[in-house]
Amino acid sequence: MALNNAYLESVYEKVEKRNPGEKEFLQAVYEVLESLIPVVEKRPDLVEAGIIDRIVEPERQIIFRVPWVDDNGKVQVNRGFRVQFNSAIGPYKGGIRLHPSVCASVIKFLGFEQIFKNSLTGLPIGGGKGGSDFDPKGKSDGEVMRFCQSFMTELCKHIGADTDVPAGDIGTGAREIGYMFGQYKRIRNEFTGVLTGKGLSYGGSLARTEATGYGLCYYTSEMIKCMKNETFAGKTVVISGSGNVAIYATEKATELGGKVVALSDSNGYVYDPNGINLDVVKQIKEVERGRIKEYVNRVQGAEYHEGCSGIWTIKCDIALPCATQNEINEESAKALVANGVFAVAEGANMPSTPEAIAVFQNAGVLFGPAKAANAGGVATSALEMSQNSERLSWTFEEVDAKLKNIMTNIFHNSYNAAKEYGLEGNLVAGANIAGFLKVADAMKWQGIAY
Ligand code: GLU
Repeated sequence: MALNNAYLESVYEKVEKRNPGEKEFLQAVYEVLESLIPVVEKRPDLVEAGIIDRIVEPERQIIFRVPWVDDNGKVQVNRGFRVQFNSAIGPYKGGIRLHPSVCASVIKFLGFEQIFKNSLTGLPIGGGKGGSDFDPKGKSDGEVMRFCQSFMTELCKHIGADTDVPAGDIGTGAREIGYMFGQYKRIRNEFTGVLTGKGLSYGGSLARTEATGYGLCYYTSEMIKCMKNETFAGKTVVISGSGNVAIYATEKATELGGKVVALSDSNGYVYDPNGINLDVVKQIKEVERGRIKEYVNRVQGAEYHEGCSGIWTIKCDIALPCATQNEINEESAKALVANGVFAVAEGANMPSTPEAIAVFQNAGVLFGPAKAANAGGVATSALEMSQNSERLSWTFEEVDAKLKNIMTNIFHNSYNAAKEYGLEGNLVAGANIAGFLKVADAMKWQGIAY
């Protein structure tokens, strides 16, 4: 589908001109604009209010120097980012990615996606994202702490519980959030819910750690039940990644009766025909901070293969990409289809290229896009914000039940939006349209500053 609409094409041209070479950001914008073709026709009021021209431009972008001292006493410098993309429906909300690939394009694509994802949760959170090209891999605990403190020394001037509430993402887990929270409190002398994904002893929410992976499985369950009358029971599942999202997706998919046979990291993947032993994975990844390769030294019958894309050649019924952006290309998508996959849902952000999505959709494979399928993490972050505001903690069961309800609603709202706009069954368009409309209406009613 091309941007067969003169107005949307002109918006996209301006975005291209203003953000030259930012391929991830342009990819994310193009996909959303493509979905908005029927909206432009049906809602001229939103076009008149300039909503689409405005939504593709971040409200604010902060880029800063992050100096820190390594264990040898040498000064190191990284670049920090926070993109405050849209605050129409709530404070900016989104994670902090620490990975060498982080650059303006990556943070902007993630921040842009976050606007629609956060809107889909039904909770009052705007869109933002941050990060740095710092690589926590191979760094000592002290180095990670000093980096996080330096990062927060600047970031604390721009965030706050009612302004912008960061959280984790790739490379930022409980340890990093703890160091950042400590530094915020030291400088600002405020104990507030300024970050989510906090430890349970200082304001964190039960079920936040599990939320993205569990939420992905709740969404997938609803999608396969409603669209194919299927369940996870007895299905072979391939999950990429072995971080927080992949681990808890494996846990829930297994609990729902599926057999997860593969996991990966940035070096390679493990295949375990007997079903992944999650206790072993948790020990390697969460306790030892090791590589997935180690799994085959501890579990008999498992194989390790170098390289990441091979994981998509494993025969499976359901594929849940939970590693990183653009990890499934056209060729990998074709391999999955040839091996009989019937559902794909994205745990990572934008893990499928546009060509891969087209392969799935043309083959009739159910496809749940990231901004809907992985919204459980940020939704539970918003529940953490609610608990912090009322200075109470809810039980695991309470949070988990709310999460399940939110993910079920996201599926139905996306499905219904696609149907209403003449694109029944297209969950990519449905998520984009449903997410967009709420933010667009809020922007329209809040006016433009002259
Ligand atoms: N990084 C997660 C995401 O991509 C969670 C963000 C949050 O909890 O604020 O949605």
